[in-house]
Amino acid sequence: MSQLATEVMLIREFVLSAFQQNTRVVACEKTRRAICIDPGEASDDVVNYLHDNDLELQAITLTHGHLDHVGGTKALHDAFPDAEIIIHKGDEPLYFGLPQQPLLMGIQQSQLAALGLDFDAPPPLTRNWEHGEIYEVGELRFSVRHCPGHTPGHVVFAEECEKKVFVGDCLFYGSIGRTDLPGGSYEQLIESINSQILTLDDDTVVYSGHGPETTVGRERRQNPFLNGVYDAGRGRFI
Ligand SMILES: [Zn+2]
Ligand SMILES: [Zn+2]
Repeated sequence: MSQLATEVMLIREFVLSAFQQNTRVVACEKTRRAICIDPGEASDDVVNYLHDNDLELQAITLTHGHLDHVGGTKALHDAFPDAEIIIHKGDEPLYFGLPQQPLLMGIQQSQLAALGLDFDAPPPLTRNWEHGEIYEVGELRFSVRHCPGHTPGHVVFAEECEKKVFVGDCLFYGSIGRTDLPGGSYEQLIESINSQILTLDDDTVVYSGHGPETTVGRERRQNPFLNGVYDAGRGRFI
């Protein structure tokens, strides 16, 4: 068990939306400052958790602009209007196009309300992420890394003292993000994962936008998209 004095991170996960997306509140235990990474849909549970635990929401920090990651931004910002909202420039079109995203997925206008996908226009952004910036949340220091491939403006947040990385839809337990959606690129995603995520220590815990946690080392060794198995099958599993 590590005894690093820097271990002050609180993580609370909420699985939200029809897409079973992992919305997370991440906080500095000492200063009570918090961020919400990817509020997937409006949720009283998230708002109540912040209030009940005396946490100050300083920002809504978005990994990318897909609806299952930004759908709850407006409701959360209405509850905490002082919170910043930050996304990479490359995903601004997706963010501001939120009301149209379900239509791009082939869902009919008349079905939106029944599916809970009738989104209002999202609130204005505070600013954009810059690749390589350090974002401080109390005593936590996240390095912001641009990882295009799933979307053009996808970023991940690495806290290297805590050995934790929040990767959105770049990397999953045993899999990688979709690259068949507009703006996606398989080659770019693999390059992003190799250069921005697999360069972290093997015991870094990986928190994905869907599904269970994993580690950098496990994915480096066992993920078929990253260990050569998929390439050996020339795009097919063998
Ligand atoms: Zn996505
Ligand atoms: Zn997603």
